[in-house]
Amino acid sequence: MNILVTGGAGYIGSITCVQLIAAGYRPVILDSLVNGKVAVLDRIEQISGQRPVFIEADVRDRARVVQVLREHAIDAVIHFAGLKAVGESVAQPVRYYDNNVQGSLVLIDAMREVGVKTLVFSSSATVYAETQDMPLHEGSPIGATSPYGRSKWMVEQILGDVAASDPSWSMTALRYFNPVGAHPSGLMGEDPQGIPNNLMPFIAQVAVGRRPSLRIFGRDYPTPDGTGVRDYIHVMDLADGHLAALRYAHGRAGHHVFNLGSGQGLSVLDMLAAFGQACGQTLPHEFAPRRAGDLAAFWADPALAEKVLGWRVQRSLQAMCTDTWHWQSNNPKGYDA
Ligand code: NAD
Ligand code: UDP
Repeated sequence: MNILVTGGAGYIGSITCVQLIAAGYRPVILDSLVNGKVAVLDRIEQISGQRPVFIEADVRDRARVVQVLREHAIDAVIHFAGLKAVGESVAQPVRYYDNNVQGSLVLIDAMREVGVKTLVFSSSATVYAETQDMPLHEGSPIGATSPYGRSKWMVEQILGDVAASDPSWSMTALRYFNPVGAHPSGLMGEDPQGIPNNLMPFIAQVAVGRRPSLRIFGRDYPTPDGTGVRDYIHVMDLADGHLAALRYAHGRAGHHVFNLGSGQGLSVLDMLAAFGQACGQTLPHEFAPRRAGDLAAFWADPALAEKVLGWRVQRSLQAMCTDTWHWQSNNPKGYDA
């Protein structure tokens, strides 16, 4: 099967391409490179012996997307392409809605024209409303609090409406929890631009000496050690979740929604300690005030994905840290080094 992977030059998309190739699929990457790296193509080839077709294009370029769907006889689409920085989305809401919502609309309309009717979409746990009621399951209340989160929820609703309008569509939204880790080869991983917003890439840059110290945002949350709790999922498990979703959804019409998480909550101090073990150092850190907009704790109920897709996480916290350290220490400056 030929799979169009929008955003396939990014963190999760590129690693998913490796897993797609390993499973016998043929990924075709379409990416504008607004946040992706063309160097991932060499790495994918190094790992899997195959170099995916790469098209540098914006998913909002309808004519180009139609042409790619036709030329490469695409059977299904995994749609990773999107902007993902929550803070930036608050400052630039129009850019976020245009890229994430309009981009998805253009893609869906191009697919309709060509008759490609299977779409797997990168959604996020940020669509859920703030609640003490853990774990979050697919029926938990929705209430995204940022333009980024709302853009994901808008697209999910569009997927539902399109599936309802025409029973030949198969629309799947995957709500990721906190993706971390790297390919175990150490050749591919997360390569954020500038100062990382997220915990794991920040810790990794402290470990490699690019940042002096981790600032832990808040030590007075109502959690066992007072620091924020999240559900971290190894990016390889996340990639495998896409393959499971694709196998399930292709040829199965309707609108499907799944959490992809581990089901386990871990604190900032848990992550710091595990990473310290993986890299053999005590990592410098200091406590700082809470970060605006942060929730104390949330984690997934991944039971639906296990029951329906036959998927569950396989990789441990130790693997998340060891693989990240392997990637970061081999590529201290990311793909550009
Ligand atoms: P990433 O930024 O590494 O990858 C996204 C890719 O999409 C980049 O290569 C970028 O160049 C490309 N892109 C963006 N807009 C585009 C457009 N209009 N046309 C073509 N290409 C475009 O991000 P990632 O971490 O790999 O995330 C992939 C998807 O998963 C995103 O949609 C993101 O919102 C979602 N997601 C990520 C996380 C996370 O923590 N990483 C959590 C939940 C959901
Ligand atoms: N965090 C932190 N220092 C950092 C980055 C993150 O203490 O430099 C904390 C953050 O407050 C949260 C957890 O780590 O409790 C995960 O943050 P991240 O931004 O990775 O994920 P999100 O908050 O978007 O789920």
